[in-house]
Amino acid sequence: DKLKKGLSKTRENTIGKIEALVKSSKKLDDDFWEELEEILIQADVGVNTTIELVDNIKQAAKKQKMHDSSEVLELIKDEVRKLLEYNNVPLNIPERELAVILVVGVNGAGKTTSIAKLAYRFHEEGKKVLLGAADTFRAAAIDQLNIWADRVGVELIKHQEGSDPGAVVFDAIHAAKARHADILIIDTAGRLQNKANLMKEISKIKNIIQREIPEAPHEVLLVLDATTGQNAISQAKIFEEATGVTGLILSKLDGTAKGGIILAVEKELKIPVKLVGIGEGLEDLRDFSPQIFTEALFA
Ligand code: GDP
Repeated sequence: DKLKKGLSKTRENTIGKIEALVKSSKKLDDDFWEELEEILIQADVGVNTTIELVDNIKQAAKKQKMHDSSEVLELIKDEVRKLLEYNNVPLNIPERELAVILVVGVNGAGKTTSIAKLAYRFHEEGKKVLLGAADTFRAAAIDQLNIWADRVGVELIKHQEGSDPGAVVFDAIHAAKARHADILIIDTAGRLQNKANLMKEISKIKNIIQREIPEAPHEVLLVLDATTGQNAISQAKIFEEATGVTGLILSKLDGTAKGGIILAVEKELKIPVKLVGIGEGLEDLRDFSPQIFTEALFA
């Protein structure tokens, strides 16, 4: 399916190479493990995560008294799945009250598209969705979100460019309550150049939300561009400090051969990946399931 197709570059660059390695080396010796490490690091799994993963695979092989490399692929698959399952948590959407989702991330990461995809999904499920355009810094951001809102068929609460993002959020919450909406998704500015300002702005937005709905936002989703590799991890650390991220949307997985970043992200950030982007279309967002993901990757 689409997920499998989206992972094809990564599959070629990882599983394809591991299969070739298995073919060329009969025994599970030091050379084998070293080359496996190299493949994983090269696919952006990250040094620490790679070392731990290969260690786990080695131990599992030992336990099963496995010497022949031909059986090892299944073991690798198991350990990858286990690592991904480690802190897997699904989206937190309350049943009977307004769910508020704050979406953060640097410009270009795929924030607007991911919001549109999420809105589309909830809309398709029959939920009433509202969007809030709190990235008031760029007129283009508001316009872009407006285009998507029209396309999906949901209402967008917006003010003019340069207006106070807090005021937009306040209005959006009141509109969502008045319309008995199920889900409010709020876009935020993504200027990482000025970290202090970004932190201030997002924490102000959070305060305004919490004043209206104490248990909200139910999710603070950080959008990370999978094609930016290890860079995504340092970005995530800054946002985590600024906003207390509850989950990640890993976008553009289809555009990279280094999808191993998902392992690094899960392991090093300890923030669950909740959704993955596998294309530019409205349907190209999937709940992240370690099981389904691993099956698609190793298929
Ligand atoms: P923003 O600046 O963070 O709001 O980024 P956008 O949502 O405008 O996305 C930037 C570009 O990335 C656009 O051309 C999107 O179509 C593209 N994009 C976003 N998500 C994905 C994805 O999952 N896969 C692919 N291939 N492209 C994506």
